[in-house]
Amino acid sequence: MNASQNDPHTYDAVVVGGGPAGATAAHDLARQGLSVLLLDRAGRTKPCGGAIPPRLIKDFEIPDHLLVAKARCARMVSPSDQRVDIPIEGGFVGMVDRDVFDEWLRERAAGAGAVRRRGRYTGLTRDAAGTAIVHFETDARAVGEGGPQEPARAQVRARCVIGADGARSEVARQNVPDADRTSYVFAYHEIVARPSNPPAGYDPSRCDVVYRGELSPDFYGWVFPHGDTLSIGTGSADKGFSLRNATAKLRAASGLDTAPTLRREGAPIPMKPLPRWDNGRDVVLAGDAAGVVAPASGEGIYYAMTGGRLAAEAAAEFLRTGQAKALKLARKRFMREHGTVFWVLGIMQRFWYVNDKRRERFVSICRDKDVQQLTFESYMHKKLARKKPMAHVRIFFKDVAHLLGLVRA
Ligand SMILES: Cc1cc2nc3c(=O)[nH]c(=O)nc-3n(C[C@H](O)[C@H](O)[C@H](O)COP(=O)(O)OP(=O)(O)OC[C@H]3O[C@@H](n4cnc5c(N)ncnc54)[C@H](O)[C@@H]3O)c2cc1C
Repeated sequence: MNASQNDPHTYDAVVVGGGPAGATAAHDLARQGLSVLLLDRAGRTKPCGGAIPPRLIKDFEIPDHLLVAKARCARMVSPSDQRVDIPIEGGFVGMVDRDVFDEWLRERAAGAGAVRRRGRYTGLTRDAAGTAIVHFETDARAVGEGGPQEPARAQVRARCVIGADGARSEVARQNVPDADRTSYVFAYHEIVARPSNPPAGYDPSRCDVVYRGELSPDFYGWVFPHGDTLSIGTGSADKGFSLRNATAKLRAASGLDTAPTLRREGAPIPMKPLPRWDNGRDVVLAGDAAGVVAPASGEGIYYAMTGGRLAAEAAAEFLRTGQAKALKLARKRFMREHGTVFWVLGIMQRFWYVNDKRRERFVSICRDKDVQQLTFESYMHKKLARKKPMAHVRIFFKDVAHLLGLVRA
């Protein structure tokens, strides 16, 4: 134990993880004048397609300079290469580079008063009064030349802990019951330089989403533009499926096989919200750590930031009242707002993503203007469109017709 690493201060909150969820939680708490430590392992850019909807840009006040590209069209591609272009009317999907985006969020939290520390959470113990002591290891290199070669150990006290340390969260595993009750898709992508001579048909403002069994048996492949680079990848829950081979096929099919590869990386994406997000005492989870990524789409940044905000609200209420049950509000409020959409998307993934025949039909129903409008309303603005109740009815009957095979793809 390196005593000089220990901070005698008891923080109101220690936030573990400085991704979108943790940085948002730290910012929101610090802004209220609470004392906050934002602890992040750092050193690795989060593998991510970096697509964010307008609702996120608005709710979390994301400045325009963080958007490296603006997608104005989504192309759905079927197994037989049928292409359905869905224009994003009157708006765009923003593309962010996660190294820059996450650091900007962490700095915003620091600007609001959060203390930043680089370190890897290792565990939680309690002092005689029952207050949480958060243990972490700091990077040996950060200690300075001639310092210890082993990672230095450090600890801080916390009245409350927010676990925002991503998928397969250590905070969740150690502190929250049933944290293993979720499932994952493993996603892999390659970041390639945008070729100086792009392939025919390449559009830097279009996101391609490719549904094809050879690219993923249960998810989809994507080609997302990022200004000077592109993210090309795929995902699957099938551990035996080669994501690298599938990505190579997708690159070849997109004419991007010879583009210079800058990075190859992957990470698990949780597909089911955990049944509990708190330990009934002083720990609450947010973001991937809580299992909140939208099924079918794999969209997680918006939900991580919303989860971070709700965890901060719940933590603030807990700190104010001393009532541990306040921590439950994070999950309750999240599921009230997004539970139905997650449920519907889960059914969609299980039904449409199982074989190429169904994928073909799925892309074909995306031609429908009502489907396009509703899908985009709910993705862009995170609410089910209520303007056109008859559209819901029409879509319901169309979906049933497709399910029963009454409509040919
Ligand atoms: C290949 C891929 C593509 C994706 N594409 C998209 C997309 O286009 N759009 C979208 O919305 N979502 C996408 N997602 C999902 C999205 O990236 C995640 O849902 C989102 O990053 C979750 O944010 P988070 O803050 O909860 O976790 P993370 O972003 O994973 O952040 C966790 C943080 O915790 C830190 N940490 C981890 N362990 C410790 C520890 N022990 N101690 C201290 N710190 C720790 C990490 O350093 C990291 O900073 C994609 C995911 C993958 C894998």
